[in-house]
Amino acid sequence: MKQFNVVGYYHSKETFGTVDGKGIRYVLFLAGCSLGCAFCHNPDSWARGDKTITVEEVIADIEQYRSFYESSGGGITVSGGEPLLQSEFVATLFAACHKAKIHTTVDTAGFYQQDVLDAVLAHTDHVLFSLKAVDSKIHQYLTKADNKQILKNLAYIAKRKPISLRYVVVPGVNDAAEEIDALADLIKKIGGDVKVELLGYHTMGVYKWKELGMEYKLADVKAASKEDVQKVRDQLEKAGIEMQY
Ligand code: SF4
Repeated sequence: MKQFNVVGYYHSKETFGTVDGKGIRYVLFLAGCSLGCAFCHNPDSWARGDKTITVEEVIADIEQYRSFYESSGGGITVSGGEPLLQSEFVATLFAACHKAKIHTTVDTAGFYQQDVLDAVLAHTDHVLFSLKAVDSKIHQYLTKADNKQILKNLAYIAKRKPISLRYVVVPGVNDAAEEIDALADLIKKIGGDVKVELLGYHTMGVYKWKELGMEYKLADVKAASKEDVQKVRDQLEKAGIEMQY
């Protein structure tokens, strides 16, 4: 039972999550992220902070609502921040979840060394992978890093687990026809069970940047309309990519 005392640093938790994986889910948002996405709606999750939770506490939380998760085909999703920055905690938590027959999903952006993946994937059922851009320059504009390691990690995961590839359509930034063609080519190249989930860029998190006194780089970019997202969907479908709705 010693492993149950492994501690995770977290930002917040949700007991009835419906947008981060299948069914109704317990969603634990871990704290800490170094990717610095320009459209992040949780910049307050970048610092690790001092709120902690143990594996034992998470399992006890889940047990209270287990019937909802089970009857809806749900489970637990560990999101962030970047959860893989606390890979030991996630690996221990997911092992405990599997022991308790709870479905596990991790929501990651892929920005870390590959050697942290195996321990987590060993007890992961499903991966939500958030890719910001395929073109390295666009990626560097939208984040604080290039995407070399991220793309390597995406390919590595695709060989091992089913992925919902989340792509935020940022109008005029990462939705040009050539960028979406590159996305389709990438998905075909990496193989595996990858479905694309499109999300429209929105501005609901901008107030947090203001509260934190941080400059919001995309201030002049409009939120994505239904048509903006549909245009990308049509192009991907035409290219034979499987979509998730
Ligand atoms: S990876 Fe997620 S939490 Fe980290 S900066 Fe990007 S959107 Fe925010």
